[in-house]
Amino acid sequence: MNLSKRFGRRDVLHDISLGVPRGRVLALIGPSGSGKSTLLRCVNLLETPDSGSITIDGSTMRFGATASRHRAKAMAAFRAEAGMVFQSFNLFPHMTVLENVMSGPRFVRGRSHDDAERIARPLLERMGMDSFADALPDRLSGGQKQRVAIARSLAMEPKVMLFDEATSALDPQRVAEILSVMRDLAQAGMTQIVVTHEMSYARDVADTVVFMADGHIVESGPARQVIEDPREERTRTFLRHFH
Ligand code: ATP
Ligand code: MG
Repeated sequence: MNLSKRFGRRDVLHDISLGVPRGRVLALIGPSGSGKSTLLRCVNLLETPDSGSITIDGSTMRFGATASRHRAKAMAAFRAEAGMVFQSFNLFPHMTVLENVMSGPRFVRGRSHDDAERIARPLLERMGMDSFADALPDRLSGGQKQRVAIARSLAMEPKVMLFDEATSALDPQRVAEILSVMRDLAQAGMTQIVVTHEMSYARDVADTVVFMADGHIVESGPARQVIEDPREERTRTFLRHFH
């Protein structure tokens, strides 16, 4: 997809190309400031890339001088193809758990209240959160909030799920819980791009691992090989922090 992104005079992404086959998991690792979040935010159009293109399941958006201007409607439709889960949960604080999960189908997809509820309830159940349907988010633990956030993303029936350090704000027990939810999703065939510091998840669940530094892809390859036997010195140096 050859994505590039500058903030002012800073080049944050240089001509990044990567792809995830349907049903596969790509883990993105790299030091702080390397551009991992920016890359995910570009895939979800939370940032507009300066040049390049993004294709999800056959539909493509092009950016840069040669691209036609995208209409808001096309952008919204494209954004709905990618579900994003953040470190900070980002639930709507004034809505109940159920309303949070219904919000996408209802207000983005334009489904009726009853349809949205029919989508949301089984997802809450799948995430083990059905007994909290009427609670407000501030009553929940971090792990519970994250499970609701995942359910809310899934309610949009995305083609790909983007996880940006989804476990970084959680205590160790909750980390394992959320990783296992993510693992189940992967096993159910959900395509994922996962920014993570959990090298065991990257090694055991991801198909491909991409190591980024300074807005460049330094190394990418089969997960086990990149984690256990990286070819590049920079990858090796980075991974040493995790042993
Ligand atoms: P971390 O591991 O700390 O989350 P990251 O790999 O996700 O880091 P990014 O958040 O993508 O890194 O940031 C990449 C670079 O882009 C950083 O130098 C950051 O300061 C810069 N940056 C990110 N967002 C903006 C913005 N909105 N305006 C200006 N600079 C930004
Ligand atoms: Mg980040």
